[in-house]
Amino acid sequence: MPQSYDVAILGAGPAGTACALALRGAGLRVALVDKAQFPRDKICGDAIPGPALKALRQLDPAYADELLATLRPKAETRDSRVVAPNGGSLGVRWHLPTFNSPRLHFDAALLALVKRHTATEILENFAVKTLAGAPDAVTLTAADGRQLRAGLLIACDGANSVAARQLAHRRLDRAHHCAAVRAYYAGVGDADGRTTEFFFLKKYPAGYLWVFPVGEGVFNVGFGMLSKDVVAQDVDLKKVLLELLHTHPELAPRFARARPLGPVAGFGLPLGTGRPAHALAGPRWLLCGDAASLIDPLQGHGIDTAIKSGILAAAQAVACFAEQDFSADFLQQYARAVQARLGPQLARSYRIMRFLGNKPWLVNAGVRLARVPLARRWLQKLVG
Ligand SMILES: Cc1cc2nc3c(=O)[nH]c(=O)nc-3n(C[C@H](O)[C@H](O)[C@H](O)COP(=O)(O)OP(=O)(O)OC[C@H]3O[C@@H](n4cnc5c(N)ncnc54)[C@H](O)[C@@H]3O)c2cc1C
Repeated sequence: MPQSYDVAILGAGPAGTACALALRGAGLRVALVDKAQFPRDKICGDAIPGPALKALRQLDPAYADELLATLRPKAETRDSRVVAPNGGSLGVRWHLPTFNSPRLHFDAALLALVKRHTATEILENFAVKTLAGAPDAVTLTAADGRQLRAGLLIACDGANSVAARQLAHRRLDRAHHCAAVRAYYAGVGDADGRTTEFFFLKKYPAGYLWVFPVGEGVFNVGFGMLSKDVVAQDVDLKKVLLELLHTHPELAPRFARARPLGPVAGFGLPLGTGRPAHALAGPRWLLCGDAASLIDPLQGHGIDTAIKSGILAAAQAVACFAEQDFSADFLQQYARAVQARLGPQLARSYRIMRFLGNKPWLVNAGVRLARVPLARRWLQKLVG
């Protein structure tokens, strides 16, 4: 007989762990299932947006305090630097404290919070292959044949989500999807270890290159573009990243003595484009985080929206069990809550992304304009 739970959270990244933390004390039997054994790597820029920590703090201040106290390595990064295609640059100070930390460590620290603070049953090395809905439960079947049943599935299984494919019938839409690659480097020149840097490029206007300090002298260096343009321009992202580090007028001298600490690796970013790309909920299931396509289309961050959607999904789970209603209609409440909480910012980012995309001159002009304090405040508010 498969093991039975009230709630199965599929995926123990930021969305899944936040959901488990938010379900603490709800009186539900919760399983958190992941195909990996933690600590595990996740290809990312490793910039943890300020709103991610804020959302955890709102859930319980101890979550944020313990995370900050235990997480190593990390780099406090309240300052950013934006470099325009013409080489002009602009410093930005974010409203909320923010930090960078390799996902290998950040995600393991989130899971440690779940272990410490909740009675969640954690099942690692459980790679879900198929999901079957039925009137009374959802069944998760692993590649090795193990099974698990739950009254409600909260799918937080990332950009290549099995749930989004099998339950929501999501297909890749390259106009609303980015592809990105990253590598770790040591010995990057002229870097203070506290500033995240974004480089916009004339040749690749629908994307950017980043250099993010992640602590202890290590930098996460990456490059991403809209997938539609990757295909249209036949871009080999890994090759282009290495080329840019050798040829970009500012980066080439700074990377002349830098050492790569591993291979360049890539992954997809399903963008939350401010329109319902696909269903977020159905009978006995919900999608969160990347599985729900909630990445900010302008800046490419999705850890904060993953955490926020995981928390909203937990609230919906509690409502479902209180009302004993798991119907598609009732679960649409969750889709509406996601839209209300995240929709306006995602839609605004999408409009700006569309406006700036393929107009490098406009980025040059924006960076120049932002030297005026009033204009800078307005621009900063606009991009969040
Ligand atoms: C190159 C790149 C750079 C990025 N940079 C940033 C950044 O700097 N800041 C930022 O905020 N966001 C960034 N993002 C986006 C960010 O990585 C995601 O938005 C975030 O990880 C989403 O969290 P999640 O919990 O939804 O999914 P994930 O973090 O992907 O977690 C999903 C979990 O599900 C598990 N899983 C998947 N399939 C199965 C299965 N079949 N069975 C069991 N378990 C499964 C995985 O092992 C994983 O642990 C970047 C993304 C990319 C690709």
